[in-house]
Amino acid sequence: MEMIRSGADTLDAVVAGVNIVEEDPDDDSVGYGGLPNEEGVVELDACVMHGPTRRAGSVASIRGVKTPSKIAKLVMEQTDHVMLAGEGAARFARAYGFKEENLLTEKSRLAWLVWKRSLRDASGHNNWTDGLDAPLKPTARLKRMFPDVNDELLAYAWDRAIHPPTGTINCLALNTKGEMSGVTTTSGLAWKIPGRVGDSPIIGAGLYVDQDVGAAGSTGRGEENIRIAGGHTIVENMRHGMSPKEACLDAVKRVARNYDNDPARLAKFDISFYALRKDGEYGSATLWSGTTKNGQVRPRQFAVNDGGKSRLENCAYLHERR
Ligand code: ASP
Repeated sequence: MEMIRSGADTLDAVVAGVNIVEEDPDDDSVGYGGLPNEEGVVELDACVMHGPTRRAGSVASIRGVKTPSKIAKLVMEQTDHVMLAGEGAARFARAYGFKEENLLTEKSRLAWLVWKRSLRDASGHNNWTDGLDAPLKPTARLKRMFPDVNDELLAYAWDRAIHPPTGTINCLALNTKGEMSGVTTTSGLAWKIPGRVGDSPIIGAGLYVDQDVGAAGSTGRGEENIRIAGGHTIVENMRHGMSPKEACLDAVKRVARNYDNDPARLAKFDISFYALRKDGEYGSATLWSGTTKNGQVRPRQFAVNDGGKSRLENCAYLHERR
């Protein structure tokens, strides 16, 4: 916001914004410290769109770079392509001076190791452990396996192992000249198959910006978003007169329709959409009203800053989580 106020380009501002979290080792959902794939390797996805020039850039499954959003912007600015993936994306980053770094923090490595030990074959066996199903409580058993790790970290690792999390940032911006840009960045689904690409780097799914209309993006289970091309769908909805909130709710309904609106199947995942219209109106909608933690439902929220202090607002939703 400081950059936007001082007249910086909206894309430079949103990329700088998400870089703060990408570089934060304590955040396990994007960039450095993101939870890894099933082989313990962090693979990141990101894309950017610049409204005024109508350009886009993207990287998928990139390894060894903390800030995939910067590489996506470089793809946009310095190549004749829109999307680079895997080894090619990493080599491109090296060519631009980004050093190869190990993105797996000790915390994420522990969560991954605990996840590997939590797996079972049909007979209840796992080669990575002498048996988590022993009479001891999971955390007590883990304590025996990892005696040097404190209880809080073990509880975190266990929670991450049994509830493989998703997590992403979609950041959309509009300045007083009416210029818009957006970025989406993520480490994707924890414990994914190496090479799995979610919606976040897909232009038209995890992000879409049309300078004439507005911008939209998504977080949550990317497979569902790809199947409805959520970002593009929402921008088109706004083009045809829906408010940002209505446009996002329509996208959520399309996701639900793919499951015949069956709440039992829909209960297994969540997805959120965000939209910002060219005139500054914004909105968000999610499939479920909130997340459950320790028996409490916490509302799904999104962050807004329209020039003053940042604030959280509740997302509209299709189904109430009880
Ligand atoms: N949408 C991301 C993906 O599927 C994950 C997330 O937003 O939580 O990779």
